[in-house]
Amino acid sequence: MNPHSLLASAGINIGLAIIIISVFSVLKKQPSNSSIYYARTLSRRQNLPLHTRRFLPSVNWVTQAFLLTEDQILADHGLDALVILRLFKFGIKFFSVCSLVGLVVLLPINYGEKEPPDQSYYTTDLFTISNVSRGSERLWVHFSCLCFISFYGMYLLYKEFDDILIRRIQQLQNIKDRPDQFTIIVREIPFCIEHQARDCSVDHFFSKHYPSTYYSYRMVYGTQDLEELVNQGKSLARQIEDSKETSMAKKPKNKLPLLDTLQQETSKVDLLEEKLQALRHTIPKLQCKDMIKKKELPAAFVTFKSRSGAATAAQLQQHSHPLLWITEKAPEPRDVSWRNMRISYRLVPLYKLGVHIAASLLTIFFAIPVTAVQGIAKYEKLKKWFPPAMVMQLM
Ligand SMILES: [Zn+2]
Repeated sequence: MNPHSLLASAGINIGLAIIIISVFSVLKKQPSNSSIYYARTLSRRQNLPLHTRRFLPSVNWVTQAFLLTEDQILADHGLDALVILRLFKFGIKFFSVCSLVGLVVLLPINYGEKEPPDQSYYTTDLFTISNVSRGSERLWVHFSCLCFISFYGMYLLYKEFDDILIRRIQQLQNIKDRPDQFTIIVREIPFCIEHQARDCSVDHFFSKHYPSTYYSYRMVYGTQDLEELVNQGKSLARQIEDSKETSMAKKPKNKLPLLDTLQQETSKVDLLEEKLQALRHTIPKLQCKDMIKKKELPAAFVTFKSRSGAATAAQLQQHSHPLLWITEKAPEPRDVSWRNMRISYRLVPLYKLGVHIAASLLTIFFAIPVTAVQGIAKYEKLKKWFPPAMVMQLM
C-alpha cells in the first residue's frame, strides 16, 4: 500500500462521517421528523425545541451528547440503550490503546529493521510486520504486544460484564413486581367443541397439568375495530381539549371583531363533542360479552403464582402434537404486538425466513460501499484479481 491510497481511504472515511453527521443534524431539526427524534417529548406533550436555522448543519448537540451521564441515559432510555452506548465506549477504550501501542512501539520496531530497497519507491509497507525478517529478535516485541493487547481486552470485557451485571440486577430489583415475569403466552389453543369456545380449554389444561403453580388466564381477542374506535375517541377528546385551551387563551385579548372566530370555535367544539358522544354509545355495545366472545383468537396469556412456574411452562413442550399449545415467555406489556397475535403460528417460520432474507440483503448491500472504499486503498491488488476494475483507470 502506498501513502496516497492510505490517505485516500482515510479521506473517504472521514468525509463520509462528516456528511452523515451533517445530514443527521439537519434531519433532526425538521418538524416533519419530530415523531422520530422527539417521540418521548411529544408523548409527554411537552414543547419541542425551536430551531432557527433549520437547513444548516450544527455540531453543538455533539458536546451535549457527551455531557449526558449514564444514570440519565438509564432513566430516560432504558438499560438496552445504555448497553449499546457502553459498547461504543468499549470500542473507543480498546482501540485507542491499540493505536497507541502500534504507533509508539510497533511502528519504530518495524521501520528500523531493513533498509528501504529502493529510495525512489517509498512505501508504507516499511511500517508493517512484513519488514521484519524471519527469525528476528524483534518478533518478540510483536508477541509481547499481542499478549498485552489480549489481556487488556479481556480485562476490559471482564470490567464491562461486571458493571452491566450490577446495572441489570439493580434494574431487576426496581421492576420486581412486573406481571410479565409471571406470565407466559400460549398460542394455537385447540377449540372446545362442547362449549363452542377456546377459553374453557385453557383453564382445563393448565389446572390439570400445573395444579400447584397455575393462577389465572386471559384470552386474546381480535378487536381491531374496537381499537380504532377507542383511538378515534381519544383523538377527539384531545382535539376538544386543544380547541378549548386555544379559545381560553384568546378570550382576555378578545375584542368585538374577534367574536366571530370565537363563535366558530365554540360550534366546532360542539360538533366534536357530538361525535364523541356517539362513540360513547357505540363502544360499550361492541364491548359486551357476546360480541367479544365471537372475536376470540387461539392465543391467551396464562399467569402463574411464581416466576419458576412460568419459566417451566414456557420452556416445556405441552402436547404430543408439536403445533398445539405452544408456550413462550410473555413480552413486556408495552412490547406486545397485538397485530401479531392474529397471525397463525404455522406462518411464523415464513415470517422468520422473510426477516433472514431482508437481513442478508442488507448485509450484502452494506458490504458493497465498504468493499469499494477498501478497493480504492488496494487498487493494485484489485487490478490483479478483478480485471474489470481497470475501468477505474480510464475514468
Ligand atoms: Zn370446554
